[in-house]
Amino acid sequence: MIIIFGAGIVGLFTGYNLLKRGKEIKIIDTHTIKANSTDASVGMLAPYIEAKPGERELLDLMLDSKKIWKELELNKKVSRCIDLKPNSSLMIGLNQDDEEKLKFKKKFFEKFGFETFLLDDRETLELEPSLNSNIHCSLLCKNQDQVNSNLLKSFLIKEIEKMGGEILYQEKINKILLKKKTVSFNNSSMQFEKIVICCGAWSNEIIYNSFGLKLPLTPLKGLSILVKSSKNSFSHNLWYRNIYIAPRREDVLAIGATEEDRGFDDSIKMDELYYLTNSMWESFTKLESLELKEIRVGIRPAVIDGNPIIGNLKDVSSDVICNFGHYRHGILLAPISAEIVTRYVFEEKVSDQFNFFSPSRFNL
Ligand SMILES: Cc1cc2nc3c(=O)[nH]c(=O)nc-3n(C[C@H](O)[C@H](O)[C@H](O)COP(=O)(O)OP(=O)(O)OC[C@H]3O[C@@H](n4cnc5c(N)ncnc54)[C@H](O)[C@@H]3O)c2cc1C
Repeated sequence: MIIIFGAGIVGLFTGYNLLKRGKEIKIIDTHTIKANSTDASVGMLAPYIEAKPGERELLDLMLDSKKIWKELELNKKVSRCIDLKPNSSLMIGLNQDDEEKLKFKKKFFEKFGFETFLLDDRETLELEPSLNSNIHCSLLCKNQDQVNSNLLKSFLIKEIEKMGGEILYQEKINKILLKKKTVSFNNSSMQFEKIVICCGAWSNEIIYNSFGLKLPLTPLKGLSILVKSSKNSFSHNLWYRNIYIAPRREDVLAIGATEEDRGFDDSIKMDELYYLTNSMWESFTKLESLELKEIRVGIRPAVIDGNPIIGNLKDVSSDVICNFGHYRHGILLAPISAEIVTRYVFEEKVSDQFNFFSPSRFNL
């Protein structure tokens, strides 16, 4: 039995992958945490747009995950169910300054062999007629698509249950105790083959309380909003300087995101809301045509070097595996991190290609 702590996208994908390969799994989560990251996420699957100079390993990981997303996309039943859209992104420029930045981006993308297309205002409006006429230019980035992360979560829960996996909700687990092949927490004990910690931003807490190890993980709060558009919707994902917008079914737009270091505070602050609405006001379509549907708060798990932590905790046990710290990219990265953990469960090792992400880079 593989016991997974955390039923966010990373824990669910890991459970789903293991079940498909014939393992028995149990996922333990809690209803007491309200601001998990997955529920607030916008679901962009855009490795190149997210890429930053000096983060080659992370880009490669995102591209590996993207290949798994592309396979999922071919399964029409699944892709319809999770609204996995094979669309592209437009990075929008509103003035000459933005155009220079987009040209710089274009050159950066070319280094990786990723071809993009700089469009002028007229060409941009031909692609997206509902945009404001103040558009200056855009960069068309093909295959930088998106998934509805909320539908994805429901889909994975259903599939896990169909395959005989269990998802249990308990009081928050502050500490786990290991005794040989038994794990105890919150008055229950279970036999395990491996344990996988997928508690997102809360992973540090459970690992420190249980094993006395501290990982360089910081909670980074983010707000996203859902609005309904009464105008024609968009067919591309839109990326502005401060916000990004994903068109969903029924003319709903998911818009993200703020990023603040405010610990585990999950309240909605006016400055955060102002940041999003003001950025929309400056750049986007007529605000009076948008109806506010929902405001969401999520706490992202950010590691000091910007990379996720995937691999076993060698100083504790080869049976305790980390799978967290996916920061801004957890939806995109969930399939590949699930695959790395699954291979570890079967082969007792992480392949050299992915060793870069191991906890041992922090001497743990
Ligand atoms: C506003 C916003 C927009 C985003 N947009 C994107 C995007 O477009 N594309 C993208 O790829 N990523 C995006 N992200 C990032 C992405 O959401 C995260 O990287 C990802 O959801 C992390 O998933 P997770 O499963 O590790 O963590 P979470 O989703 O936070 O899940 C952790 C789970 O562990 C449980 N848990 C924690 N502690 C305990 C405990 N002690 N006991 C029991 N259960 C516990 C929690 O209840 C929760 O269910 C966005 C994030 C935010 C906040």
